[in-house]
Formats: sequence, structure tokens, C-alpha cells
Amino acid sequence: MKPASDKITLIGAGLNGPLLAILLMRRGFAVEIYERRPDMRRVRMSAGRSINLALSTRGIHALQQAGLWDGMRNIIIPMKGRMMHSVAGELTFQPYGKNEAEVINSISRAELNIALINAAEEHGAIVHFNQRCSGYDLKTGAVRLRNEKTDEETVSESSIVIGCDGSASAMRAEMLKLNRFNFSQQYLDYGYKELTIPAGPQGEHLLEIHALHIWPRGNLMLIALPNIDGTFACILFLPFEGTDSFAALTAPAQVARFFESRFPDAVPLMPQLAENYFANPTGAMVTIKCSPWHVEGRALLLGDAAHAIVPFFGQGINSGFEDCTCLVELLDRCGADWPRLFAEFEKERKINTDAIADMAIENFTEMRDRVADSRFLFRKKVELALEVKYPQLFVPKYAMVTFHRIPYSVAMARGAIQDRILAELCESINRVEDLDWNNADRLIERDLTPLELLQ
Ligand SMILES: Cc1cc2nc3c(=O)[nH]c(=O)nc-3n(C[C@H](O)[C@H](O)[C@H](O)COP(=O)(O)OP(=O)(O)OC[C@H]3O[C@@H](n4cnc5c(N)ncnc54)[C@H](O)[C@@H]3O)c2cc1C
Repeated sequence: MKPASDKITLIGAGLNGPLLAILLMRRGFAVEIYERRPDMRRVRMSAGRSINLALSTRGIHALQQAGLWDGMRNIIIPMKGRMMHSVAGELTFQPYGKNEAEVINSISRAELNIALINAAEEHGAIVHFNQRCSGYDLKTGAVRLRNEKTDEETVSESSIVIGCDGSASAMRAEMLKLNRFNFSQQYLDYGYKELTIPAGPQGEHLLEIHALHIWPRGNLMLIALPNIDGTFACILFLPFEGTDSFAALTAPAQVARFFESRFPDAVPLMPQLAENYFANPTGAMVTIKCSPWHVEGRALLLGDAAHAIVPFFGQGINSGFEDCTCLVELLDRCGADWPRLFAEFEKERKINTDAIADMAIENFTEMRDRVADSRFLFRKKVELALEVKYPQLFVPKYAMVTFHRIPYSVAMARGAIQDRILAELCESINRVEDLDWNNADRLIERDLTPLELLQ
């Protein structure tokens, strides 16, 4: 391992930057982080940045490796399943996992970010706020910085620079200038907007607390995640253009009418609906794939900077945190041979981040549309019955991604095989009791290897 004096520069103190800093400092490296925003612990966050995240097994594992998870239990709310709201206001609960341990955890992005920055500083990281990376010299490794308050320009020299600067990465923009740099970005035709359900008069939650609430309506969707202060952070997903779209909702009365017709049971819970709607920005959702992620053992992209994905599998930060643990595990195994390390890191991760990017897009259709479809719900019941009977062989794709750490690419491939098995078993039945278990035995044993062999 390199001596502690070896400095590593990280660009971005979002979610991945501070976590990576902690893991590196625990291995004796000195870390400096440059963040373009002001310090969020001192400046009020701008609207639209308080969206909640669902943390699951991969993210939790990384937080445990950094010694942070136990301290976070008081800022998370476990969500046991999806609570679907029909237009008529009927509720249907669909558990995420096969038991109480299989939950996803709602956490405020801001609280998580603050906890990570605090912990990084406690470990000795120097975090420079209001410092935008305005360029990176691919030959010398010098980082150009601009102070966002004073416009002063400075340069930071460091032998290793890691871009944790999110989906609009400035580091990646420099790497685009390289010969044969591969890059693709795919925007959805849908945008999102943050809204709020306030707490009740006694500070209580006005909806079931241990659930992720979904109002699926074909090509549009509202979701709500619980906060510890009794509020729910909601996200409205709508097409940018068309009849029911952000472009069509330009006046408070239109927003009110739209919500009354589509999400009537949510309206009484959202007294500041129009105010929130017009105060908060409309965000875009993009899938970014690129390669290579590294430049000659000097520079590396990690997290959204390397692989931004759409949010419908709740895996953006879980996969980013898994990047962090993968990088330091390689460091522990191979030492600080950076060119080799970065190449190995990309080899191990890219196939998996490509897979979760594709699964996240697939899950968009499932969440907004199919969760309300009775045939889909029946298949989910059969899936659960198969999982109970064959716990090591038939594990739903959602569970493989969310409650296990098997590589995403393996989860995707197994998920496709299981979908074929499920389609065959459900073809001519409408009740779980009518399942042909002999055929299930045959198909599962023929096509699936035990999961424990893949962990
Ligand atoms: C609506 C929505 C819902 C989501 N829900 C989930 C979820 O439920 N579960 C989940 O796992 N993931 C979710 N995600 C994804 C998750 O938010 C991202 O994957 C995660 O934030 C990526 O972390 P990051 O550190 O790579 O980037 P970011 O969190 O974006 O941080 C990048 C940081 O770099 C800074 N920066 C940018 N440019 C520069 C520059 N030039 N110089 C210096 N600093 C710079 C930024 O200010 C920022 O602080 C969601 C995303 C969205 C949009």
C-alpha cells in the first residue's frame, strides 16, 4: 500500500465522492475533494434537490464497509413493499421481498450527503466547496478550478484524480477529447418533479409509513417515499410533451384538475400542490454509457460520471457505492498499481453497470404500467411461490438486484431465464394452486444453477 502522504484528488462531494474518500483514507491515503456547490450544511438547499433515495443491500454493504451504517439507522425508514393507489382510491400492497428482512430503505438525499461529508471530514478529508473543476489536463493531470464566488482560477496538481462529479461530469467532458473515447447518452421523453405530502397535525405520516406509494397511470406516475419528519417526498413522472405532460400543465388550475382526475386520493394530502409544482424545477433523466473510464492510471470516472442510469430500479447510488467497494477491494488485492487497478475496475464494473442501466429502463414500464395489471400481479404471486419452494434456485430479478450482491449482469441473465420459465408455467392457469409443480421442478433444475455458487 502507498504511504499516507500520497494525495488523491476527488472531484465532487455528492454521494460517491465522500464515501470513496472514507474508504481510501481508511487505507492510508490523503484525500482532497473539490465540490462546485456551497457547503450544504451551511447553505439552504435549492428546491428540487431533496428527493429521497431507496437504499438497498449493495449500498448498505458499502456503508457498513465505511463503518457508517449503524449510525444511519435513525435517518432511514424501511419500506416493506409497494402500495398501489388506484384512481378509485383502492390500495393494493405488494411486498418487495419474501420476508421482513427484505426491505428497501427510504433516506433523504440531503441527510445522507451531510452524514457522508461529516464522516469524510472526521476521517481527515479536506473538502473545498465552491470550487468548480473547469478543466483537467489529460497529459499532466493538473485540475483547473474556478472559485464559484470569486471567479478566481487555480490549479491543483495530483498524481491521481477521480471524477465523482455526477452525470454532467466535467472530467468526462475532458476525456471526450481523447481518440476513440466511446460515449452515448439517452434521454427519456419523461421528466420528473419533486412534490411534498406534509406531515399531519401531530407530525404523523398521512399514508402507511413502511411502503413506497405508487399511483401508476399508464404513461404517467406519482410516487411517495416516507421521511422521518412525517412528510413524504413525492416524485411526479410525466412526459415532457403531449396531452398529459409538463408542457400542458402551465397554470395552477390545470395542475389541480389534472391531479383531481388522475390522483384524486393524493389531492387532499397536498395542500401546497400548485405552489410546489411551480417552485420546483422539472428534471430530465438520462442513461450514460462511456468507455474507457480511465486515463493511464492518472484519472478515473466513478458513479454517475461513468454510468448514469434512470431511477426506476432505485439502484443509482447503490451501484455507485458498489463501485467504491469494488475499487478498494481491488486496491487491497492488487496494491496501488493504478494503471492495472483502473483497467481491472472497469473490466469488473462496466458489464454490470451496463446491465443495471438496461434493467432500470425496463423497470420504468413495470412501475408505471404493469404493476396495475392483474396478469402481472398473478405472475408475481407465482414468482413468490416458486421462490419459497426453491429459495436457492428461483430468486426474482428484483430480489437479486435489490437484496443480493450477485453481479447485475448475472441477475439480468438469470432474470431472462426465469421470465421464460414463469411465462410457461403461468400460460394456462389463473390460480397459484393450479401450478404444475412437476413441470416447475423440471424447468428450474434444467435451467438454473444454485445462487450460492454465484455469490
Ligand atoms: C429522481 C431521482 C431519484 C433517484 N432515486 C434513487 C434511488 O431511489 N436509489 C438510488 O440508488 N439512486 C437513486 N437515484 C440516483 C442517485 O441520485 C445517483 O446515482 C447518485 O446521486 C450519484 O452519485 P454521484 O456522487 O455519482 O453523483 P451526484 O450525487 O450527482 O454528485 C456529484 C457531485 O459533483 C458535483 N460536481 C458536478 N460537477 C462538478 C464540477 N465541475 N466541479 C466540482 N464539482 C462538481 C455536484 O455538485 C455534486 O455534488 C435517483 C436519481 C434521481 C434523479
